[in-house]
Amino acid sequence: MDKIKMTTPLVEMDGDEMTRILWQMIKDELLLPFIDLKTEYYDLGLKYRDETRDQVTIDSANAAKKYGVAVKCATITPNAARVEEYDLKEMYKSPNGTIRAILDGTVFRAPIVVKGIEPTVKTWKKPITIARHAYGDVYKAVDMKVPGAGKAELVFTGQDGTEIREVIHEFDGPGILQGMHNLNRSIESFARSCFNYALETNQDLWFATKDTISKKYDHSFKDIFQEIFDAEYKEKFDQAGIEYFYTLIDDAVARVIRSEGGYIWACKNYDGDVMSDMVATAFGSLAMMTSVLVAPDGTTEYEAAHGTVQRHYYKHLKGEETSTNSVATIFAWTGALRKRGRLDQIPELVDFADKLEKATIDTIESGTMTKDLALITTLEEVNAVNSQDFIKAVRANLEKELA
Ligand code: NAP
Ligand code: MG
Repeated sequence: MDKIKMTTPLVEMDGDEMTRILWQMIKDELLLPFIDLKTEYYDLGLKYRDETRDQVTIDSANAAKKYGVAVKCATITPNAARVEEYDLKEMYKSPNGTIRAILDGTVFRAPIVVKGIEPTVKTWKKPITIARHAYGDVYKAVDMKVPGAGKAELVFTGQDGTEIREVIHEFDGPGILQGMHNLNRSIESFARSCFNYALETNQDLWFATKDTISKKYDHSFKDIFQEIFDAEYKEKFDQAGIEYFYTLIDDAVARVIRSEGGYIWACKNYDGDVMSDMVATAFGSLAMMTSVLVAPDGTTEYEAAHGTVQRHYYKHLKGEETSTNSVATIFAWTGALRKRGRLDQIPELVDFADKLEKATIDTIESGTMTKDLALITTLEEVNAVNSQDFIKAVRANLEKELA
């Protein structure tokens, strides 16, 4: 069989620990035998990040901007224990944070839905994708303990010296205060990333805030989304047969629980933080969540939502068998290959991505799965396998699909 040819390289960001081991297995078993894989490789493993003083992370993000599509393995975000373990020169920032800051993107998280891993919410049939705004609000707030009686004011001083003042509260005793902000340009980027991703995945987009109470702050989010939608996206949404829908956050929560899924739910920073954990948990497994970073210019980076699975890696190093779930990492690759195939008009590559996803889902639905899923599945006959054997079972199904 001829291998599928690629024209533009994918930006490949390698990572750490158990996911780095899975990364190589996926390439060897599921990609290299079938594709003339063209990647520009960046080693974001902690050792090489340290050797380059994190320059490699910055270079990889710039490469993603240049080529438009990247696929990333999970990476360690160093803490004090890691600084000691790897003898690091400094405590580097989270690579995901660094990459997101350069690409100015929004993260979309979606579960991979398979029969046998049933959501806690009975009505959910299709994935719910959460988009979290990743700038400002309470995450960049300044807060203060008010010691006693006195007046609190909000003051803005313009560059020309003009002041805008608003009384927050006349305190008659001790209390607390908080000042937060956001930027129109950040909200605009967020809105464009959401509209682009809705078109890309052909799903409705929901957005919700508390604009009835927060008449200037949250209302600005609502207005900015609506203005950009009307000016730039309404026609495209009509053509695609999808909808943009705004509602109050409490109404959205009630509707989400009653829905069958199949849409993108855009959330402000705090709502997204809280709701993404709720939605991920209710769908069954962190190991089955994908994560896609989409920049307003369309640059897209695919990864798994879980970390480097450190506990399994230490077992692996001791020569013990592991049963680590590679599904979200496989789907990171298929997402990136499909996007590359669409951009470069290589239908064989898009078709290969579809078939690899189908082979992976079929493997689980026929009962072969890693231990994390075996513990929660509703299937009766289960064949719990180790990390390698799962990927080999997917390969066997993939060969049938491609034959
Ligand atoms: P983790 O790697 O997500 O793993 C936490 C636990 O969840 C594992 O010990 C395992 O449970 C289970 N799990 C997660 N993914 C699994 C998979 N694919 N297959 C089977 N079980 C899975 O989180 P962590 O251990 O808290 O973090 C480890 C490192 O990952 C940290 O250094 C952190 O900085 C990094 N991290 C990176 C990213 C990223 O790059 N996007 C995201 C999060 C964390 P059992 O041990 O019970 O089997
Ligand atoms: Mg959180």
